[in-house]
Amino acid sequence: PPDTALLGRSTWTFLHTTAAYYPLQAPPQAQSNMINLLSSLSLLYPCSWCATDFQKDMRRNPPDVTGREGLMKWLCERHNEVNTKLGKDKFDCGIQNLDKRWKDGPED
Ligand code: FAD
Repeated sequence: PPDTALLGRSTWTFLHTTAAYYPLQAPPQAQSNMINLLSSLSLLYPCSWCATDFQKDMRRNPPDVTGREGLMKWLCERHNEVNTKLGKDKFDCGIQNLDKRWKDGPED
């Protein structure tokens, strides 16, 4: 079976970093690429119960792909849903805190 912790850390790193460098105001092509990425991820993610819950969460909360800040905040909230499910602390989804972690100064 997959190492869900390593897979999760790596996937969140990819997603938050990609969002941090997403256009401030995304053109239509970038928006549809991001919708495709997130939908495909929710279908293909190789931890089946994670994928099922992520699909449900995405249906309740459709992604904001209009630009960098909205996308980062949306992803942070999705990650917090998982944090809560796993009994972990919530992350501060303010843009300054997100930039500090994922754009300006990665710590790991
Ligand atoms: P992670 O949660 O992987 O976080 C990595 C780093 O991101 C943290 O050190 C912190 O600096 C930063 N961070 C934390 N929270 C946020 C946030 N809200 N916004 C921005 N940055 C943040 N695991 C399960 O056991 N069951 C599941 O159902 C499950 N579902 C998942 C669904 C998805 C879509 C993904 C990508 C992962 C899922 N995981 C699931 C894995 C889980 O979220 C963690 O990745 C894993 O438990 C390892 O946790 P960690 O403590 O190393 O840090």
